[in-house]
This record gives sequence, structure tokens and C-alpha cells, in this order.
Amino acid sequence: MLQLAEIFYSIQGEGTWTGTPAVFVRLAGCNLACDFCDTDYSMKFVASVESVVAMVREAGNDCPMVVLTGGEPLAQAQAVDLIAALRRDGRRVHVESNGTIFAELPDDVWLCVSPKERVDPRMAQRADEAKLIVDQRVPEEHLPLFATKPTILLQPEGNKPANVAIALDYAKAHPERFRLSLQTHKFIGAQ
Ligand code: SF4
Repeated sequence: MLQLAEIFYSIQGEGTWTGTPAVFVRLAGCNLACDFCDTDYSMKFVASVESVVAMVREAGNDCPMVVLTGGEPLAQAQAVDLIAALRRDGRRVHVESNGTIFAELPDDVWLCVSPKERVDPRMAQRADEAKLIVDQRVPEEHLPLFATKPTILLQPEGNKPANVAIALDYAKAHPERFRLSLQTHKFIGAQ
């Protein structure tokens, strides 16, 4: 059984896929405890893989995009079974991970790694998208892990103006590689 916090239909507010409708599956629990974490990933219910696939369909009908997030979605071993089942159901699966837990993912799974600490280099290498959280500074210590990535997203923590200014200045100083990523869903009151 999977431990879950919530399942809801909204839009992807962050990163490369900003603005794209998606069903979000927030798995409960995280293996880290970041100071700035503002996500309630506490367990609200448990469900089988098949039940989660059905709930995704109930929430978003035929919406092709499903985002597994957390917490840390890969902290639950059954997450890989859920990914397989969602793909069989015709979904395009995205995984938002802190990159600390290695998992073999099919090539068509979009992996966003947002590093906080001790990233597994294999996950950094596998990442389709690297998203660095800017909290009073750009965490440059993570950049060597993503040396082969042509684009790095800088996301100001909490959309706070001071963090936005730091991220914006950094992107403008390194325009060939860095992009600003805002939590746009918060501007429109979306979940
Ligand atoms: S890794 Fe993400 S979900 Fe986990 S504590 Fe840190 S910010 Fe929160």
C-alpha cells in the first residue's frame, strides 16, 4: 500500500512545464527535513497502486500528465510500481524528487531533481530538469552535479522578493544557462 497526502487536479506551476494541466499525486513522507519546507506531506490516507490509478482518473479524466511529488515520492518503494501502472494507463509521468534516492526510471518519465543535500549522482545525471531553490543565496555547491545540463532553473523560495532578486540577478549574470522559475500557481490561488 502507498501512503499518500493528497491527489488533486491543477496545473504545473513551476519549471519547464509551467501552465500544463496535471494531476498531482502527493506521496506522504520525506527522508529530509529542510528548514524552509512549507509542504504538508503528512500521511492522510493509504491506497493500493490500482486505487491511486483510479483516483487519478477520477480527478483528471484523460489528462495525460501526472506529477508524483511529496515529500519525497521515491522514498516509498512502491512508487516504481505506481509509475508503471500510470504508464500502462496512458499517463505521462513526471517525478519531482530531491535526488537522494536512486530509482531506475523509464526513459519517458520526466524527472525533476531539486537538490537539498547528498544527491545521488545517478539521479542528477538522469534528471531532465534541475531546479535549485534560492533561499538567500544560489546553492552553487550543487552545480557540479548538473554540469552536463544545459539549463538550470532557479526557484526563489516562497516567491519572496529578496529571493526573487537574488535569482534574477544570477540568471541575468549567466543568461546562457540559468532561468528563473516562479511558483506561478501561488499567484493565481491554485493548489
Ligand atoms: S526535500 Fe522537499 S519535501 Fe522534503 S523536507 Fe525538503 S523541501 Fe520538504
